Amino acid sequence: MTHSKSEDLFRRALQIVPGGVNSPVRAFRSVGGTPPFIARGQGSHLFDVDGNEYIDYVGSWGPLLLGHRHPAILSALEHALTIGTSFGAPTEAEVELAAAICDAVPSIEMVRLVNSGTEATMSAIRVARGFTGRDLIVKFEGCYHGHVDSLLVKAGSGVATLGIADTRGVPKAFCDSTLALPYNSPDAMQEAFRAHGQRIAAVIVEPVVGNMGCVPPRPGYLEALREITARHGALLIFDEVMTGFRVAFGGAQQRFGIRPDLTTLGKVIGGGLPVGAYGGRKDIMSLVAPAGPVYQAGTLSGNPLAVAAGLAMLRYLKAHPEVYAQLESCTAELCSAAPPGITVNRVGSMFTFFFTDQPVTDYESAKRSDTARFGRFFQAMLERGVYLAPSQFEAAFVSAAHTEEDIRQTIAAARQAFSA
Ligand SMILES: *Cc1c(COP(=O)(O)O)cnc(C)c1O
Repeated sequence: MTHSKSEDLFRRALQIVPGGVNSPVRAFRSVGGTPPFIARGQGSHLFDVDGNEYIDYVGSWGPLLLGHRHPAILSALEHALTIGTSFGAPTEAEVELAAAICDAVPSIEMVRLVNSGTEATMSAIRVARGFTGRDLIVKFEGCYHGHVDSLLVKAGSGVATLGIADTRGVPKAFCDSTLALPYNSPDAMQEAFRAHGQRIAAVIVEPVVGNMGCVPPRPGYLEALREITARHGALLIFDEVMTGFRVAFGGAQQRFGIRPDLTTLGKVIGGGLPVGAYGGRKDIMSLVAPAGPVYQAGTLSGNPLAVAAGLAMLRYLKAHPEVYAQLESCTAELCSAAPPGITVNRVGSMFTFFFTDQPVTDYESAKRSDTARFGRFFQAMLERGVYLAPSQFEAAFVSAAHTEEDIRQTIAAARQAFSA
């Protein structure tokens, strides 16, 4: 494989874009080398500007549940283009998308569309604070909720990958309103609520963590979160930006049978275009302006192109529930490629190979992975035409476009890469 065109582009980018990329996770800092610049995608495959072809397990970091250029989404976009790209006024399709979300996600009775997952979580915690009249937010170490100031405390994903101790530029007062607790520990939750229960507005959690690598909730953990928050009058926010329509049609809350008060969505609901959403109980969401006093707005919110793609995605998934069973079995087969000594975590079509022989249940245990070995594995896979996230602390995603042949090739590449 040659990468000379990507290398040229990256050199140029480094001069005029911070780190050469528009989101830190795209840089190959932790694994070394130059990120391939992508020319196009088709189905489960990516093609870079040097003509290399890869089987894609990043899927734009989660949105592409149906792969690249799915016909249902392309034709919805083509139709949307004939109508206009933005009106800043209500449209029928927004009502349809809101209805599709309320219909699919068990706890969502009312929903507001925004443009990204970050906006969704930022807005959800504002509503939670407005509803409870309290300030403190509990989050969990290694969970990522977008680059919201107060949620960048002990955040996973790119923050974990770069080893940035939190981040500069966030006022201390913002961090003081955040309590970061270990994931999967009901005891830590009990203790935090014993000490600060009256001041906690909400607990925000990735019900299945994807942003320290894939870490499932222990049996009973989500139930404990539900019970403790309800007992103390705090809201439970499921950040399903990654898991929504991914681990089940109705998200992790459907898969695990838990009803949060608020839910944030993104990624899959945009079908590859920029969409986020937050929603939940009607009595809480009724506080959002102009219905109520919690202000939140957006010039491009409910953008016709993004809504068309999202609606096409959700309609396709509703009409093809068999997609989830297929994803489950494909991903399970893929995960069987891991040799002894590697810990595999998987929920549905999200998975991570952790380079440790110990169970990974929280951020502390995730960090015990051998990231240098992961880096060598990553490069060996890339050379064999398999495109994984360039970090130990990210989940990989299988899409409905991955074929049996893709899976076979990936398993063969993984066997070689593990033994190399
Ligand atoms: C990706 C992600 C976000 C942030 O979404 P953006 O669209 O990147 O702002 C928030 N929460 C979770 C769980 C995510 O995986």
